[in-house]
Amino acid sequence: MYMTQPLHRSLQQHPDKPAVQFAGRTLSFREYGERVARLAGALQKLGMQTGDRVAMLSLNSARYLEYQMAVPWGGGVLNPCNIRWSAAEILYSLEDSGSTILLVDETFRPMVEQMREQATSLREVIYCGDGALPARMHGYEALLDTAAPVPDAARRDEDLAGIFYTGGTTGFPKGVMLSHTNMGSSGLALHAERLAPPGGCYLHAAPMFHLADMGLATPHWLEGNTHSIIPMFSPEGVLNAVEKDRVTHILLVPTMIQMLVDHPAMREPRDLASLKCIAYGASPISEAVLNRAMDAFPGVDFVQAYGMTELSPLATINPARNHTAEGRKLGKLRSAGRASYCTEVRIVDADGAEAPRGTVGEIAVRGPNVMQGYWNKPEQTAAAVRDGWMHTGDGAYMDDDGYVFVVDRLKDMIISGGENIYSAEVENAITQHPAVAACAVIGIPSEEWGEAVHAALVLKPGHGIRDDELIAHCKTLIAGYKCPRSVAIVDALPLSGAGKVLKTKLREPFWQGRQRSVA
Ligand code: ATP
Ligand code: MG
Repeated sequence: MYMTQPLHRSLQQHPDKPAVQFAGRTLSFREYGERVARLAGALQKLGMQTGDRVAMLSLNSARYLEYQMAVPWGGGVLNPCNIRWSAAEILYSLEDSGSTILLVDETFRPMVEQMREQATSLREVIYCGDGALPARMHGYEALLDTAAPVPDAARRDEDLAGIFYTGGTTGFPKGVMLSHTNMGSSGLALHAERLAPPGGCYLHAAPMFHLADMGLATPHWLEGNTHSIIPMFSPEGVLNAVEKDRVTHILLVPTMIQMLVDHPAMREPRDLASLKCIAYGASPISEAVLNRAMDAFPGVDFVQAYGMTELSPLATINPARNHTAEGRKLGKLRSAGRASYCTEVRIVDADGAEAPRGTVGEIAVRGPNVMQGYWNKPEQTAAAVRDGWMHTGDGAYMDDDGYVFVVDRLKDMIISGGENIYSAEVENAITQHPAVAACAVIGIPSEEWGEAVHAALVLKPGHGIRDDELIAHCKTLIAGYKCPRSVAIVDALPLSGAGKVLKTKLREPFWQGRQRSVA
């Protein structure tokens, strides 16, 4: 499946149906398709050749959906940039990918101007409106006005759809090469899970540069559903969009779910009856946050997805039927789910042999969703993909029914006094305390234990807690050696652009100049 294929179906079958809703404006599939064909023409006029990389640095917008479709339509390769990157990181991605064109929000102009001279591969920078000025005053609309539509490029499914940089949660982001087949396989698997029933409306609330959003949106493209967009996540933004655009499906990462359910706006009366499904994933969710969310949205299906950029991004799915009292009783609620329709998933030991059920090992995945490799990094590709199996770096065990339970990133695992401690288990215990809104657990150096468990906490407004109280609470839930030895109360946890806790940042002050044995 080529990425533009679902658009052709929609253009043929229901051109007048709403395709995109953003900032009070609706585009039909016909209008959207015309703009995509013209943007593809404009990009070709700017010199985009087959296989050229086109970068984008933009908040979520209707334009972003046009970039995502027009670049492959014109034969190019997508390079979405993380909006939280520094100028140096953007420059790295532009240079590393060899992007020739950059489509960028006016908001980021100072940052782009700062590194423009050093971006040697970049030939064209198109500054696009950010809503503050009338659209016609920006280069983007002028570009579309003057361009002629072009036909969808001749192409093969194995061509590159994009170079997608990893989240940068554990280190410097790596460019992941994904083909159209890679992307399509995850989209079809999500569709087979009935995550995009006909007549639906998907809300782009998670950042569109992150593959999680593009992945979850793909089945809605396949079904010809409507896309509603907010510029960036905010609790009010989500609630307003659901109410106004009659949103049915949404993807939220756990930190967003926590911010949403703890926000005062949740207590305002609203008509959220259209909402059918909240998909979550991209990092571990604590049981307390999941419970609060399921209570806050009764009748809404919850679905967990596990995956990574390298897997286009889907590997496993835990469907709504396990987010029930029955699922809880069967012990499936806390699972990341089972292999999606297009993958094989195994838990392997250090030698690559399959681990016995119930034993923690590394998640390995094989299938059409496995990346083509890391761009410009053959050694890292060879280390990660062995005999067709992507080695994820995530620790997990599998139960007798094939359900995967993620315990930790192997790099975040804490080895204390010779025992393996999985940070997610400790975080889960801590967040069950009523005073705690969010937390992150890391290993810090300890003369005695090698590493000691340290917890950084964000408290709910108006709450307080003493260290000994928190540790006593944990002791009622988990073994003593897993409980935090030290606790810090912080205003907020450091988050990546994709909303993941940056444990490397939290560890930094403790480890200066010292090497962790796990990393
Ligand atoms: P980098 O690879 O640059 O450090 P990253 O791993 O965060 O960044 P992504 O590809 O966006 O980049 O994220 C994939 C990772 O997110 C997985 O390897 C896993 O650690 C985590 N993850 C994804 N889904 C889940 C889930 N449902 N539960 C727990 N962890 C998850
Ligand atoms: Mg990763």
